[in-house]
Amino acid sequence: MEYLTAVMAQSPRSTYGSPSAGDPYLPSSGNSGYLVEHYDIDLDYRVTTNRLVATAVISARSSQTLERFSLDFAGLVVDKITVGGERPKKVAQTARKLVITPAQALEQGEEFEVVVRYRGAPHPVHSEWGDIGWEELADGVLVASQPSGASSWFPCNDHPSNKATLTLAVSCESSYAVVSNGTLVSQTTRSGRTQWLFAVTEPMATYLATVQIGRYRTLDVVAAPVPTRIHFPPQLARNVATDFERLGEMIALFSRLFGPYPFETYAVIVTPDELEIPLEAHRIAVFGRNHVDGAHGSDRLIAHELAHQWFGNSLTAGVWRDIWLHEGFACYAEWLWAEASGRATVESNAREAWDGLAGLPKNIEIGDPGPRAMFDDRVYKRGALALHALRNHVGDEAFFAAIRGYTLAHRFGTVTPQIFAGFVAASGRGEVVDDILRRWVYSQPLPVLAGAARD
Ligand SMILES: [Zn+2]
Repeated sequence: MEYLTAVMAQSPRSTYGSPSAGDPYLPSSGNSGYLVEHYDIDLDYRVTTNRLVATAVISARSSQTLERFSLDFAGLVVDKITVGGERPKKVAQTARKLVITPAQALEQGEEFEVVVRYRGAPHPVHSEWGDIGWEELADGVLVASQPSGASSWFPCNDHPSNKATLTLAVSCESSYAVVSNGTLVSQTTRSGRTQWLFAVTEPMATYLATVQIGRYRTLDVVAAPVPTRIHFPPQLARNVATDFERLGEMIALFSRLFGPYPFETYAVIVTPDELEIPLEAHRIAVFGRNHVDGAHGSDRLIAHELAHQWFGNSLTAGVWRDIWLHEGFACYAEWLWAEASGRATVESNAREAWDGLAGLPKNIEIGDPGPRAMFDDRVYKRGALALHALRNHVGDEAFFAAIRGYTLAHRFGTVTPQIFAGFVAASGRGEVVDDILRRWVYSQPLPVLAGAARD
């Protein structure tokens, strides 16, 4: 809150909004003065030279009177901007922002359209979580933007509290395949170049928008409850077929436990490069070649990334502080799959996680870990243990009914721990739910597992 006050003192909300979304974990990302409703992005890209020429049409609505506003945008050159078809009075570009003063101030509640034509050699943005965003592979492209890398390839209001629909056209050399978040609407080839057109019809967080380009072959997972396709380098075909042979079963299990799979499609990419960790995107999971060993060595990761489609992508925390709502569930999903596939019980995974946490510093609250520890493994493991403790208190039936109620009521929405807790509390044990969250999520000392899980 102190941060917000400081920002407002510098720049009155009446004319600029806040120059960020006001999230203390990412103090420069986003802008609270308007909400984007739709992005229509057209990318003309050359893989071999990493050259991009693009147009973004941004449809937004102001939430206050705006004499100027900002878009997150990094590392590319702007050719032309219009707001409502007119050239702005002024445009200033900093390392991470475009600050636009339109010819006429925008009224509160006014719908407006910003068109940005831009070009350049897209590259990742540096952040305290490493280099994120648009990244060249040895032969192709990967985009992984969590939490603030979306601005490396399109101008946006880059904060998860502003989810928007997306239409994306990508043109590149026809020898490459392009995969993106939405449903593939069309694919047109002319003079050695192919245009791929995608549509995301449900609101999506900007950090989950992605473009994946490579020399990929595809495999459909026939047994899956939704159209599911795997894209991979041909030389990995055998390992991919083995490692993802139970993916349909996994989607079916999570659909039963968490409620229906939220989207029209699911896709998995296996890149020809090695990746440090797999990555989730909207309707997509991205793995490196090193995650595919042909011996189910990454089952845990496959379950984790799939679960993010419900927790993170469909239901998105509105502030980064609540990241445990994404990672705790994804980690718990790993344990649920391990038990369903006969590898290990949830109880034994919970015990192992607790033993690991017991040996680590207990100096963060996972409900407010601070930006540096946002992706700390303790947030993941302790988040899963909090869910396990809740489950053991209210019972399997009430616990999974609460999760299904939560994912259905808030599908494609923005969530908070309080919203989730409300669904579990509806089982009639509200005070116990509050107590478990207080001890597991909002305290530093590690609660006793047996006591917390059994009493
Ligand atoms: Zn995760």
